[in-house]
Amino acid sequence: VDFDDTPEEAAFRARVRGWLAEHASPKTNTPDDPIVFFDHGAADDEEKWVQACRAWQHTKNRDGYAAIRWPSDWGGLGGTIMQDVIFSDEESRFDVATGAFGITMGMVAPTIATHGTAEQRAHLTRILCGEQIWCQLFSEPGAGSDLAGLQTRAFRDGDEWVLTGQKVWTSGAHYADWGYLLARTDPSVPKHRGLTAFLIPMDTPGVVIRPLRQMTGDAPFNEVFFDGARVPDANRLGAQGDGWRVAITTLMNERFSAGGLSNSAHVFAALLELVKQQGAANDPNTRQRVADLYTRVEVHRLTLARALTSISKGREPGPEGSLAKLTAGRVTKATGDIAIQLLGASGMLENKWSALFVTLPGVRLGGGTDEVMRNILGERVLGLPREPQVGRDVPVPDNRAL
Ligand SMILES: Cc1cc2nc3c(=O)[nH]c(=O)nc-3n(C[C@H](O)[C@H](O)[C@H](O)COP(=O)(O)OP(=O)(O)OC[C@H]3O[C@@H](n4cnc5c(N)ncnc54)[C@H](O)[C@@H]3O)c2cc1C
Repeated sequence: VDFDDTPEEAAFRARVRGWLAEHASPKTNTPDDPIVFFDHGAADDEEKWVQACRAWQHTKNRDGYAAIRWPSDWGGLGGTIMQDVIFSDEESRFDVATGAFGITMGMVAPTIATHGTAEQRAHLTRILCGEQIWCQLFSEPGAGSDLAGLQTRAFRDGDEWVLTGQKVWTSGAHYADWGYLLARTDPSVPKHRGLTAFLIPMDTPGVVIRPLRQMTGDAPFNEVFFDGARVPDANRLGAQGDGWRVAITTLMNERFSAGGLSNSAHVFAALLELVKQQGAANDPNTRQRVADLYTRVEVHRLTLARALTSISKGREPGPEGSLAKLTAGRVTKATGDIAIQLLGASGMLENKWSALFVTLPGVRLGGGTDEVMRNILGERVLGLPREPQVGRDVPVPDNRAL
């Protein structure tokens, strides 16, 4: 891996930096700035933030920067993965709102591009110009890590499917225009085989969205209920019964984006500032902990670089994504722990570090928990025996009546 830009990459970086400077303001990085890990709108002005995300997406698309890696016939720039990384790296230095498109661009769009019909791929154009925001309707009260055990049912009725069931933790469902859903279409076969994916407008009658408030005070995710909501068969993504294969495309992309570097590095830099401000830079214990953390941030950076190299050689995102996701969660959690301990009692008051601290457990859950990532690494990288898969080869019992 060569960490320096090639002459072509350096030229692309300069071009992007120039374009960003023309269209956005650089972040000020003052001590009062919040430390953002998940870019989501605060409860009191979320609507304004969503509009800002749409406007920024529109601006990027107008000048060809909305989808660096997508081929030009899908409206992308047809660039390389390194150009994509360079753009995100430069963009993260500017004060722009992007988070409402995170799931849409990082997970939903690649899945539609891979499995969609020509008609379904028309959504990509509307996504690119900021018109459509999507949510990912996978998790259910009884199906998170064991996603294939989900209970939401889709029944065929003529040219339509009728949906009943409940999803949970659906980020952005309350402002999303469309949802991408996994439902059980055949309960009589082993659980991974009876699933089908669908695309559904979120204002479909029979779709009810209820916010879930986190300990941060914000409500970025929701419960979503399907009570006889109907979708045409034309909105089925992939073949009937092929939902697990479609979902794997999404999950591989999710792990890779959830393990992104820029946030961990940004949070670590803020921690170093805090150590100095608190007069702890000469304290041997703090120095050891910060040095240990720095080593882990570097390992995370190198892991990601290795994953990027693999993808740039044309391979699908693989277990490196799980490793990057695991290390990102551990590094940020350790950073938050050190910060709160340094602050002592004032760490319990409302300030930017306590605000960050309460978001950090979510980093280790969303996109697959630490334990699930370890299972994947144990099986696929270390070649350890598979964990016992109770119920893998039998139909899922219907718990909805319990
Ligand atoms: C911030 C955030 C945003 C999210 N956004 C979305 C979204 O937009 N759409 C969506 O569909 N979902 C979303 N989720 C849900 C997320 O995917 C799930 O929380 C996650 O998959 C874990 O599932 P669960 O919460 O049901 O926990 P469970 O699966 O019930 O796990 C509970 C505990 O058991 C452990 N565990 C489970 N199985 C195993 C095993 N086999 N081996 C060892 N340990 C195990 C887990 O690690 C965990 O500690 C979001 C979650 C968060 C935190």
